[in-house]
Amino acid sequence: MSREFAIGIDIGGTKVAGGVVDAAGSVIHRARRDTPDRSKSPSVVERTIVEVVAELIQVTGPDTVAAVGIGAAGFVATDRATVVFAPHLSWRHEPLQAALQKRVSLPIFVDNDANAAVWAEWKFGAAQGQTHVMMITLGTGIGGGILINGQVQRGQFGIAGEFGHMQVVPGGHRCECGNRGCWEQYASGNALVREAHSLLSANSPMASDLLDSVGGVVENLTGPLITQAAREGDPTACELLAEIGNWLGVGIANLAAAFDPGMFVIGGGVSAAGELLLAPARETFKRQLTGRGYRPEALIVAAMLGNDAGLIGAADLARFSVEQGV
Ligand SMILES: [Zn+2]
Repeated sequence: MSREFAIGIDIGGTKVAGGVVDAAGSVIHRARRDTPDRSKSPSVVERTIVEVVAELIQVTGPDTVAAVGIGAAGFVATDRATVVFAPHLSWRHEPLQAALQKRVSLPIFVDNDANAAVWAEWKFGAAQGQTHVMMITLGTGIGGGILINGQVQRGQFGIAGEFGHMQVVPGGHRCECGNRGCWEQYASGNALVREAHSLLSANSPMASDLLDSVGGVVENLTGPLITQAAREGDPTACELLAEIGNWLGVGIANLAAAFDPGMFVIGGGVSAAGELLLAPARETFKRQLTGRGYRPEALIVAAMLGNDAGLIGAADLARFSVEQGV
């Protein structure tokens, strides 16, 4: 039997999600474990990954899987073996591949989750047929992936694509990274929620419907609830999303000045807002693009693969690496 499948693993803050992915990018089996006791320790997460891989191999049979790809939020060294730094896991220079390879007898590759996502969207999703693609994932922060001429660009040290920490406002909001004014402080899920909470806390009459929708408890207003309210026509929720979209457009114009891609793919949880976010982003992008009026404009589109992009991309990148012998 040929090794027609690859296994993709998505490591989140509190869970390990895995899937068997076929050559067409479809997830044909899934397995998922919460990390025990919400532990972030490397050995507990590694043990959980091994369990998920074992469960998936049991379903498909051991001889059908070509490789295992792991997508992690964090800096992954260019060896695709070492997690240099993962902000949401207590990992520092963690030799993840070596630790797993002792217990999994398949080739294993580690990637940054947004690098995996841009690969998946290029091969199977919104960016098929493109040559210069940039992925922007809007979650609590901002992740980024760069793909040029069919190759994920990881940088000299593996850390390319950390778009969220480009400064857009000198002296602006403090960021987790220690700097001020980072893009992700203005165009992420956290930024959306922060702005909404500050508006509600100010007892602004324009936010009274939103406040009523969470029973008057400001802290209960989440990003998905804002998106839902905007979809139902709440003007304040629409305005909050448009503000995030404007900041998204500012950063995209900066990225276009540096990289000149043909397409920006917007993924992550916040992208569920769709055109409520993307239309204002396009407007600002057009206003701020360097050389506007004298150059082609990149497309700004929604991602297609949703939460599965990291898993599918990690699996397919691992399979590709085995096929290429790299
Ligand atoms: Zn930052």
